[in-house]
Amino acid sequence: MKSKVASALPQLLLALLVLAIVASLGVAGLRLRERLNAPPPDTPNAAHALASTTERALLRVALTIGRLQTGEAPVALREAHAQLAAVLTEAGASTPAASQLLALPDAAAAWGEARGLADELAPLVKLPQLDAPLLAGRFVPRLDATAARIGKVADAADAASRQPDPDHNADLRALIALALAGLAGLLLAGTLAHRQSQLARLREQVAHGIAERTVGQQQTSERLVTLSHAIEQSPAIVLIADASGCVEYANPRFETVTGYPVSEILGKRVGTLPTDRLDADERAQMWAELSAGKIWQRESESRTRRDDPYWERTQIAPVRDLQGELTHFVVVKEDVSERKQFEAKLLRQARYDELTGLPNRLLAMERLTAEIDRSDRADGAISALLFVDVQGLKRVNDSYGHSFGDRLLVAIGMRLLERIGRHDMVARFGGDEFLLLLARRSDVGAVRRFAKELVKAFTSAIDIQGQQVHTSITVGGALAPLDGRDADTLLRCADTARSHAKAEGGSTCRFYDESMRRRALETAQLDNLLRGALERNEFSLAYQPVVDLASGRPIGAEALLRWNSPVLGPVSPDRFIQLAEETSLIVPIGEWVLEQACRELAAWREMLNLPLHMAINVSSRQFHDYRFVDRVQTILQNHELPGDAIVLELTERLFLGDDGTSIEVMRELAEQGVRIAIDDFGTGYSSLSYLSRFPVHLVKIDRAFVKGLPEDSESAGLSAAIVAMAGALGLEVICEGVETPEQQTYLAGLGAQHGQGWLFGKPLPSADIRQLLLNRASSAPAA
Ligand code: C2E
Ligand code: CA
Ligand code: CA
Repeated sequence: MKSKVASALPQLLLALLVLAIVASLGVAGLRLRERLNAPPPDTPNAAHALASTTERALLRVALTIGRLQTGEAPVALREAHAQLAAVLTEAGASTPAASQLLALPDAAAAWGEARGLADELAPLVKLPQLDAPLLAGRFVPRLDATAARIGKVADAADAASRQPDPDHNADLRALIALALAGLAGLLLAGTLAHRQSQLARLREQVAHGIAERTVGQQQTSERLVTLSHAIEQSPAIVLIADASGCVEYANPRFETVTGYPVSEILGKRVGTLPTDRLDADERAQMWAELSAGKIWQRESESRTRRDDPYWERTQIAPVRDLQGELTHFVVVKEDVSERKQFEAKLLRQARYDELTGLPNRLLAMERLTAEIDRSDRADGAISALLFVDVQGLKRVNDSYGHSFGDRLLVAIGMRLLERIGRHDMVARFGGDEFLLLLARRSDVGAVRRFAKELVKAFTSAIDIQGQQVHTSITVGGALAPLDGRDADTLLRCADTARSHAKAEGGSTCRFYDESMRRRALETAQLDNLLRGALERNEFSLAYQPVVDLASGRPIGAEALLRWNSPVLGPVSPDRFIQLAEETSLIVPIGEWVLEQACRELAAWREMLNLPLHMAINVSSRQFHDYRFVDRVQTILQNHELPGDAIVLELTERLFLGDDGTSIEVMRELAEQGVRIAIDDFGTGYSSLSYLSRFPVHLVKIDRAFVKGLPEDSESAGLSAAIVAMAGALGLEVICEGVETPEQQTYLAGLGAQHGQGWLFGKPLPSADIRQLLLNRASSAPAA
């Protein structure tokens, strides 16, 4: 079966030819009219008859063009040739004007040449198939030469026609007209042939992508057939439109995908097909791009004839001939529905939480940004971001397992969803954290009340598979535009407010405010100054004596870090230690403390020849650093100190929720003889069970319990209980913050071994503590 493309191509070619012919005839016609413009002869004669013959000949040429537009090229060309031959014969008839014309210099040669061309053309146009390259190669240059000669004859005739005999002139003009009509006919045939050859080359280019000038016709048509088949069977929709954008061909795939029969779109303009969903503006833009020579493309959702949605990717490219003239448009459409579905799925995965199906943080942030933009442009409404932190999830996971915990998270998401409005959003931030976006609000008070109610709503138990699960939430809120004009700032503010709410014990809500902003700024400044403080030598150690409680005799000291910032002055460790922990700066700083304190201790030991010890505070970050045990060992060795010369003070928090790694580190340290003290004992976790689980040597009673002694009965009871329990576990007790002799007496009476406090000495610089140690060592009686 001859493909549709193949059968469509001649039509395409013809449409092109007609354009070219009309253009060339236009030129010839103009010149003809110019020549005929002379006043009409006043008496009818032979010249008149000739003139009307000329007009008839031209009419026939015009009719032929009409045939060319609709009919078949070879037939049309044959007729054009026959008419041309007739014109030439008539022009050569022996009228007085003709003989005079032929007497002009060059005229006979020009006619002869034109006739010769026409005769040579005769067998060629009779061939069943036009040999376009041959026609073009053989005739086009010669046609040009002949045209030039006839032009010269015409000029000579013009000059001759300025003679006084009007009849004679009219005849001459008519002959010139005929000659030009003949020339036009020749040009027609020549151009036709020329165009044919160009198109043959174009076809070839389309097939191979290379301009192969000397390729044989058979090869060309074979390739044409291959190309046609390829287009016919292409998995993509291929449309070919003419230079005005009207569809001339569509492959069968069009009907398969869209359900519209091809016949329904033939002749329709690209961009207005039933599947093209373009508005007038988009169409204008498309044509602008195409006429600028660009490839136009887009992906759009379309609908089939049965109204089923599908996604198509359309590419339209202009096709130009060798002269750079636009001849066609090629439209390729692909059904990309599957890819689109996949993309949508990916998009969904990237923007939604898998467990709860809620939007994730990314989507929440996008929505928040959009809401802020919207209220900036439109109504200036308030948006609020609530950071919701769930308490108790870990407990639920530990007691009921993770899948139960997952169900709880889903239920919490539902409970949050129940309370929000049409423009709001609940998102899962991650873990046990959710975000609530409250949009388009006008009343700050109402937003605050909403947050309060939300916290309250979580005080009632949640039913999970018949189990009543108790949780609570802590909410931190931030408002746009009050606290920030972008999503990131708001998130940071809401998070800060959440931390404040948590610090207040949780199960409450806090909104970001000025003081938080100020504190955040201060922290930022502090952090800035703290970085580099070690290199700039801004740290020092103070040493506070630790005494035997019964005798008051010094047995060692606690090393306490001091920071003297050139900008802020002396900064209390309570202000910067936590920050250094958060930023991990505590690791190098702590190592410096360890080194410095051991160096000092080694000096004391040598000076007094007494087994003094040094208590060194170690933060949890530092303790969990994998290099810690090694560092301790190396530093001790460097200063030739035994392990039991140091006591590492750890806070209670370090023992909480420990997965066993801390115990491991403590054991390794204990193997070196290093002792561990629990600092601030009694202020944190109320369970004491860990005391027996961890290899701890000392308990340091916090100064909060010592403060009220001996009068305050609660402190008295607690301290007595701690001492008794420590004794039962074989642990020694140090009492912190001893400021009065009464406290010393009372605590010593309970059986506490060691004491520390202003009564025995404030934290002192190295020189002062050395002096103090010397004095006490020589004055205090031995225990
Ligand atoms: P801490 O380990 O509980 O240190 C004892 C704190 O109580 C010290 O405050 C000390 O000056 C103060 N103090 C001692 N005796 C008395 C007293 O009789 N009355 C009163 N009112 N206070 C007394 P400081 O030096 O400001 O240290 C505060 C905290 O900073 C320390 O509490 C400790 O947790 C931390 N810290 C200090 N140096 C270091 C260090 O080198 N590394 C680490 N990680 N933390 C350190
Ligand atoms: Ca301490
Ligand atoms: Ca303490």
